[in-house]
Amino acid sequence: MMNEPEYFVDVVIPLAVEGTYTYHCRKKDFDRIQKGIRVAVPFGKHQVQTGIVYNKHRSTPPYETKSVYQIIDDKPVISERAWELYEFIAGYYLTPLGQVIRTALPHSFFLESRTFLKLNDEATYNKEQLPDDAWLIVEALEKNQVLSVEEIGKITGNRQKGLKTYFQLLEDGIVEIHISIRERYKPKFETYLLPASEEKQLKDFLNDISERAYKQRELLLFFFKQYFPAKKPVNKKILLQSYSGSLIKALVDKGILKEIRVAADRQIFDEVAEENIQLNSAQQNAINQIQSAFEKGKPVLLHGITASGKTEIYMKLMEKVLENGGKVLFLVPEIALTTQLILRLRKKFNRHISVYHSKYSLNERHEIWRNVLNHSTKTDIILGTRSALFLPYSHLDLIIVDEEHDEAYKEFFHQPFYQARDMALVLSRIHQAHIVLGTATPSVESYRNAETGKYALVEIFERHHQTPEPEQILVNLAEHYKQNKVRGHFSRDVLDAVKQVLDEGRQVLVFLNRRGYAPVVECKNCGHIDMCPNCSVSLTYHRQTEKLTCHYCGYSIPMTGVCRACGSNDLELHGTGTQQIAAELAEYFPDIPVGRMDADTTGKKDGHSRIINRFETGEYRILVGTQMITKGLDFGNVSLVVVVNADRMLHYPDFRANERAFQMLTQVAGRTGRRNRRDRIMIQTYQPGHPVLQFVLRKDYQGFYRHEISERRQFRYPPFNRLVKLEFKARNPQLLNEASEWLAKALRYYFPDVLGPSDPAVFRIKTYYLKEILIKLPADKSLKKSKTIIGKLIKKYKAIAKFRSVRLAVNPDP
Ligand code: ADP
Ligand code: ZN
Ligand code: ZN
Repeated sequence: MMNEPEYFVDVVIPLAVEGTYTYHCRKKDFDRIQKGIRVAVPFGKHQVQTGIVYNKHRSTPPYETKSVYQIIDDKPVISERAWELYEFIAGYYLTPLGQVIRTALPHSFFLESRTFLKLNDEATYNKEQLPDDAWLIVEALEKNQVLSVEEIGKITGNRQKGLKTYFQLLEDGIVEIHISIRERYKPKFETYLLPASEEKQLKDFLNDISERAYKQRELLLFFFKQYFPAKKPVNKKILLQSYSGSLIKALVDKGILKEIRVAADRQIFDEVAEENIQLNSAQQNAINQIQSAFEKGKPVLLHGITASGKTEIYMKLMEKVLENGGKVLFLVPEIALTTQLILRLRKKFNRHISVYHSKYSLNERHEIWRNVLNHSTKTDIILGTRSALFLPYSHLDLIIVDEEHDEAYKEFFHQPFYQARDMALVLSRIHQAHIVLGTATPSVESYRNAETGKYALVEIFERHHQTPEPEQILVNLAEHYKQNKVRGHFSRDVLDAVKQVLDEGRQVLVFLNRRGYAPVVECKNCGHIDMCPNCSVSLTYHRQTEKLTCHYCGYSIPMTGVCRACGSNDLELHGTGTQQIAAELAEYFPDIPVGRMDADTTGKKDGHSRIINRFETGEYRILVGTQMITKGLDFGNVSLVVVVNADRMLHYPDFRANERAFQMLTQVAGRTGRRNRRDRIMIQTYQPGHPVLQFVLRKDYQGFYRHEISERRQFRYPPFNRLVKLEFKARNPQLLNEASEWLAKALRYYFPDVLGPSDPAVFRIKTYYLKEILIKLPADKSLKKSKTIIGKLIKKYKAIAKFRSVRLAVNPDP
């Protein structure tokens, strides 16, 4: 018995596998091992995996263990408090800890057999000074460009123990992980101009210049006026407002000016110190209220209309934290759409701020991760999207969640389906940090928390600059339709307004709701849409069965082709896309360039910023888009916004449809409105009397909230009942039915309110069929207990062999 292993480590494998795996190790290694360091371990057949140590102990497990191949780190790569968050997320979102960790850390922390490596072209190193192992790897990569960890192992004859060498080469930047799918994020670039020659030469040029080059001289003088006060590069856009591109080019060609291209969200011009902004009295008042809420340890909901100066308030709070040597996490829903904000923060906090985003390169994310671990001052402020929650903070003092209502905070592609705003609150408790949730249109959940006193509510109702608000007009489609004044999807009133705005040389935004495709049937005569009597959401049309179905509870009625309200047979399927609308407009206004922006057009590299750029420079006169266009656009020259069909927002089959509609319409209104101009927002609808639209018109958030909260209570939706959605996916529809029925039945035994299994709005993707179950958790039972029961049932379900080909995803708080 002398040779029995006695030293054990429990390791989390970053995969969707339950629990931890136990390995043994030598005493010498055992002493070095601590929670949060990485180890290379055998996993599956002949595979190497990087795991993270969770625990070490000396109690022999009842099965045979394998040995840890190698210890990779001397120090943990995950902080204690980060562990706390990961474990909370694993429990709350019913997701294996390994899968949470896989989501949390940049993949460069996990080498596995099938990871591909390549040499970093930009690295500088002396190959001959590398240790033997490293030299062999570099040599192999020089010959083969891209190799998997497994292949390199074979070449170097060091199959199991080479991982540490790879990691060292990665940390030193000599090799990098090869990613076959192109990185999707490309920063938006802007062009700046600088003097290309010495000051004296410039003056000579100005004096020498001939009469003919009069325009060039004027441009140059204008440029100097911008450039000299701070000697900072001048944005080409500013010059283009008064001078032509060819004139600028002439000066560049002559060697007088030179152009530089800078990523808009990364530029730092050291010289620019932002002038110190004095908060106005409403802002100062808000700060005082926030401070006193902080003293009571309460989260703050900052409800301030657009341009009320919330960002300035955040900056003041951050400044204070930094003065005291503290750390800040600033969350935004999307980076690509917040260039303006990043610029403002960078200007002010300069070298103290790092931007973290899942679409940045692995190298950049890896570096920021390290900087946070090492308490670098560069990460005093982390500005990031939802994944920035996971960084290995050891201490945070302030968390800001900007645009807290935004649905982009919810992960909705894979487990864990976490809500970053909610997890930011958890993180604030872990760190005992202050937290501010800011927005112009609070989520119903957050406002409810403010109402019940869980959060402190701070509100601002005045814009900092007293710009006039645009005029909002509801256009009654039913009326227009009766009078034969509808062409395609537009009423004559709207088309007339578009024409007028174009004639004045201004631009038009056309806004179409299309969050994914939901086949909802609408009567073109009266606008009637069939709703589920139990769930208060629209029914969706299923061609195969010729039925209208509720995708929550499965309630269904036959599709008769006749409107149940007015008897008309002029029915239309929602789902008209931006493409069709753009084509229509191009037909009505043949000489006007029309752009469109939606998930299709922005999926391509650079798509988003290219389209925005073309609109901002006036190349497009009309821009058609989905809700994406409500964010991040400078509406400078836009004086008309058209909402093609508000009913589509209100009748999107989701219990949050009203809330989303109110938010989007209010956000659009907040972003337009310029001095000396009559800007308009025209909202086409069959239901001008719909309460949500009326609240939008009256800018009555309170009214909207009261209306919505009573519906939520009546139909037992959040914040009263919590929901858990189970999503099944399989190639075989029979098996899918059987599996989902099995689990639904098991759940019904414990929970009174289990809806489904039913067909989701989109119930077939490629060759997969989908089913959903929705559990409404009773409001009076402990959430934790309910989740534990669900977790146990899922485990039971997963143990059934014949259901193995049915994939199940668990989505709490969908
Ligand atoms: P919000 O974040 O609420 O939309 P911002 O903070 O972006 O509002 O403020 C809107 C505009 O008003 C910005 O251009 C900002 O610089 C300016 N602003 C806000 N507060 C002040 C202030 N106290 N003094 C000067 N300008 C301000
Ligand atoms: Zn009708
Ligand atoms: Zn229903």
